Amino acid sequence: MMGGVTGTTPPPAPQPGLCAGCAHVRVVRSGRGSVFWMCERGLRREPGYLKYPRLPVVACRGYEASTATDPGTTEGR
Ligand code: SF4
Repeated sequence: MMGGVTGTTPPPAPQPGLCAGCAHVRVVRSGRGSVFWMCERGLRREPGYLKYPRLPVVACRGYEASTATDPGTTEGR
């Protein structure tokens, strides 16, 4: 059968926009499988940046292209 509700699948993660390719992002995964995109500029309390920016980020003056193939991941609780 198709279309059943399983109740075990987390909702789809929001699209991160620019953060996905930014050198200042850190991906935080909770124990429940949720994904949070954390801005290290916001974490450092730089003016104008939020620790957890509203997604998707479509314009950001702090964006810098990342050279990493995968953003840093931190396990949350
Ligand atoms: S500097 Fe901007 S684009 Fe980069 S992680 Fe922070 S909010 Fe996202």
